[in-house]
Amino acid sequence: MSASLRPSPIIPTVDFDRDGVQHGHLRLPYSRDDSAWGSVMIPICVVKNGSGPTALLTGANHGDEYEGPLALFDLARRLEPKDVSGTVIIVPAMNYPAFRAATRTSPIDRGNMNRSFPGRPDGTVTQKIADYFQRELLPRADLVLDFHSGGKTLDFLPWCAAHVLPDKAQEKAAFAAVEAFSAPWSVKMLEIDTVGMYDTAAEEMGKVFVTTELGGGGGSTAETVRIARRGVSNVLRHAGILAGDVETAPTTWLDMPDGCFCFAESDGLMETMVDLGETVAAGQVVARIHPIARTGGAPQDIEAAISGLLAARHFPGLVQAGDCVSVMATRID
Ligand code: ZN
Repeated sequence: MSASLRPSPIIPTVDFDRDGVQHGHLRLPYSRDDSAWGSVMIPICVVKNGSGPTALLTGANHGDEYEGPLALFDLARRLEPKDVSGTVIIVPAMNYPAFRAATRTSPIDRGNMNRSFPGRPDGTVTQKIADYFQRELLPRADLVLDFHSGGKTLDFLPWCAAHVLPDKAQEKAAFAAVEAFSAPWSVKMLEIDTVGMYDTAAEEMGKVFVTTELGGGGGSTAETVRIARRGVSNVLRHAGILAGDVETAPTTWLDMPDGCFCFAESDGLMETMVDLGETVAAGQVVARIHPIARTGGAPQDIEAAISGLLAARHFPGLVQAGDCVSVMATRID
């Protein structure tokens, strides 16, 4: 049997076709030293009421990003079938082992969920979870909302985003959902490398895919969690799954043109020269990497290649060569 035809080892304890609220797990067998016949138990909630569109909502695709899990555990606790037309599938912590370890990647296999698609049913734990989303959950969805934040090493302006796509009808639907989310910033997002991403897997299936970057630093703020909670309800209202009007808030649209990413070329101590949201001119020094091996060395100046505003930055005080230090974005009028 080829890998592509092998069934997933994951057993859901919920029935995706049953009306009502179900709180259960995706049970993934995982034999190990402290549990010979053990499992990874990924929490899942399904709220279904009749026919209608299906939304797939995910958090902790990266385990150290918290606005998504906070908004989605909360939504799962309070959503009732009478509020819903269609189906809402909630997985608050997609890379559950990483979430439990408070790390970006899985402590089991170092798997980065967002670089593991389409996954493998006979692969590592992370690849098996990706494969289950690829073949079982994504095909059920009309709309996919995947929460991200900066995690321990990046910090972002709070934004909701979708990608520029070859299918302009699909792109338009995604940007409309981003507008409905009503984050303070809305982004036409450019990725450094799209291979293996959940985003790409969903988009290639023709789904309306929306993502976020809502702060970072490995924690959350009152504001970013409020934005996440309002945003998920807004996207469900926009899709007609929840009744009521979208609770709009002002948003500023941003683009990420070529040249938006700046990388460190040496190890050192990072001094940020501008804060998130500040206006930057092309050629302006946005960060300075101070050498730390000895005194007397000149810092490496990181200059913005384009004019715009600072949309994201490296969070910890120390950087390594190759780290993304700053990300610029430009306003769309
Ligand atoms: Zn992430």
